[in-house]
Amino acid sequence: MWPPIRPELAGIEPYGAPQLDVPVQLNVNENPYGPSEDCLCDIAASVAQAAVDLNRYPDRELVELRAGLADYLHRDVPSVRVDPAQVWAANGSNEVMQQLLQAFGGPGRTVISFAPTYSMYPEYARNTHTEWVAGAREADFSLDLDKARALVEEVRPSVVLLPSPNNPTGTALPPAAIRALCEAVGDEGIVVVDEAYGEFRRTGTPSAIEMLGDHRNLVVTRTMSKAFAAAGLRLGYLVADRAICDAVRVVRLPYHLSAVSQATALAALRHADELLANVDALRAERDRLVSWLRAEGYEVADSDANYCLFGRFADRHAVWQGLLDRGVLIRETGPEGWLRVSVGTPDEMAAFKAALTEVKGERA
Ligand SMILES: *Cc1c(COP(=O)(O)O)cnc(C)c1O
Repeated sequence: MWPPIRPELAGIEPYGAPQLDVPVQLNVNENPYGPSEDCLCDIAASVAQAAVDLNRYPDRELVELRAGLADYLHRDVPSVRVDPAQVWAANGSNEVMQQLLQAFGGPGRTVISFAPTYSMYPEYARNTHTEWVAGAREADFSLDLDKARALVEEVRPSVVLLPSPNNPTGTALPPAAIRALCEAVGDEGIVVVDEAYGEFRRTGTPSAIEMLGDHRNLVVTRTMSKAFAAAGLRLGYLVADRAICDAVRVVRLPYHLSAVSQATALAALRHADELLANVDALRAERDRLVSWLRAEGYEVADSDANYCLFGRFADRHAVWQGLLDRGVLIRETGPEGWLRVSVGTPDEMAAFKAALTEVKGERA
């Protein structure tokens, strides 16, 4: 066999949602609003400044960026103030999570999550030779705590991956579930709460960041890709006990985050108010979308994110294709029978609703 790739990787297609050039793109949970003129100018000037020293390697320890992210977290969760030494960043939270698995997973160790969940998790496990075990969620996509605890007792995982809100279902976890799993895992492992969509949580849904002081094995990951409207930047981060950050620093490649990325992220953080200004509008649009879909007779999972999972369809692929034929790209992912749609601008939502109504009429 050529090339002599690891046998478990042979014949596998690289992960990725279809990137199709259609007018309405509601398939990868991006923020539909781009940066303002002001923000663009600040980014351009900051990158120019970083370029002056481009012959030198960047700050390997990301000191200024980690401080900026710590300040930002205080703004999102005012009751908590973390030290910059508790923050770590990489090229997207995907890289952060793979680094966590490199440091805490590995041969002879196990990572668990609860399906249906983010399709990248088994790939981090495979890439780091960590055994992957998927528990199951209930019919409403919540976790049964007794079953979850029983799985932890049985498997003794080194890493538990808990997206909240979950992708693709949009379901947030109650604090009691996170506490119970942190306690069940204890000092043998870490519990990673993936809050990629944390800023979209509904009023009254707390962030796991509030629990960091109570559980030293808790890690919360965040990203600038979604609420922060900077998917193209590739900047994700974690907040945890500083000993966990220090462990990740052992496995990171030297200078993994370029000077250009660091400068861009710092500039974007200076414009946080403006980049996040549309989050409330998107949350309201999400709630309207859920209500509309339910009124149309669809089943919709409760969502704390900027997307929702709806169904059920006997032939979801045909519905996905029908929407695509009308210029609307959504995502065929998650459990059989369901589709996921991201929340876009009011115009994009109108196009989605019109297209879905047509497809439904055609198939009735
Ligand atoms: C989008 C997403 C991420 C973020 O990935 P980045 O690498 O930061 O862009 C992480 N986790 C989940 C569940 C996601 O859906």
